[in-house]
Amino acid sequence: MKCTRCRARAEVHLRAHNSAFCRPCFLFFFRRQVERAIAHERMCTPEEHLLVAVSGGKDSLALWDVLAELGYRTTGLYLGLGIGAYSTASHAKVETFAATRGLPLRVVDLAREESGLAIPEVARVTRRTACAACGTMKRHYFDAAALEGGFDVLVTGHNLDDEAARLMGNVLRWQTDHLARQRPVLPPTHPRFVRKVKPLYLTGEYETAVYAFMRGIDYIVDECPNAAGATQLLYKEALNRLEAASPGTKLAFVKEFLRSAQPAFSQVEGRRPQDCTRCGMPAYGEVCSFCSLVREVQAKTARAAAGAPA
Ligand code: SF4
Ligand SMILES: [Zn+2]
Ligand SMILES: [Zn+2]
Repeated sequence: MKCTRCRARAEVHLRAHNSAFCRPCFLFFFRRQVERAIAHERMCTPEEHLLVAVSGGKDSLALWDVLAELGYRTTGLYLGLGIGAYSTASHAKVETFAATRGLPLRVVDLAREESGLAIPEVARVTRRTACAACGTMKRHYFDAAALEGGFDVLVTGHNLDDEAARLMGNVLRWQTDHLARQRPVLPPTHPRFVRKVKPLYLTGEYETAVYAFMRGIDYIVDECPNAAGATQLLYKEALNRLEAASPGTKLAFVKEFLRSAQPAFSQVEGRRPQDCTRCGMPAYGEVCSFCSLVREVQAKTARAAAGAPA
């Protein structure tokens, strides 16, 4: 097969794009996809300081690599979630990536923060799924780190597969409030929030894996051990089957949602957040969801220590 762009021997075949690329042309194509997403959605400008949330996986490290290559001012943010060997290994990958490229990195270790709570403990005490606890904790520490560091934009590595799976989940349950916020750019709704952007929202997982391989990025291949039971994986599998039968399905699903359906949902977007009375971060009740979770853990731990049932 020949490269669609230069007619040399192709190394990658992208069925969704009906294209094939040699190595230099694929790297060009990948970077241009990110540039186009940023420009089309007005995600950020070269003057702004970007905080890039990195997990040690291929998507976030590939994204950080492209943004740095494109000349953006970036700082990485790694959250130590306290998930055993997975956290240790992913932290090491991120440290090595940043050090070899001379990029600044911030590390927030959840167990060392004021609340002192790592994900497994929160999940165990509150009897939530690890991912539910993790989602609330991650959102809070991302927002807090962006605010404390004076960053303009928070960037995450969500890719097309993530967005399609999330969209499928939201549609299957008609979660209109979630659909209202499912956009590649979220403007701040509170003075303590920064803009949140997802430059890989139209880039497939396979493409980021190929990019990471071609660029020699050493990322953590293993998934978080808690991912196995997550419903999102089931949606991803279903979407992969649809994609195999009809290439381009995921791209059309997400693109068309954003073009023709999303505006109707965002029109009815709900209330604006107030200030959390405990930490000052945005909240939809008296306290934010993070503080409410921390309170719940503290109360249940105290009850258990006093010998009462949780
Ligand atoms: S799989 Fe769940 S617990 Fe693991 S990092 Fe993702 S959200 Fe957190
Ligand atoms: Zn080529
Ligand atoms: Zn709070």
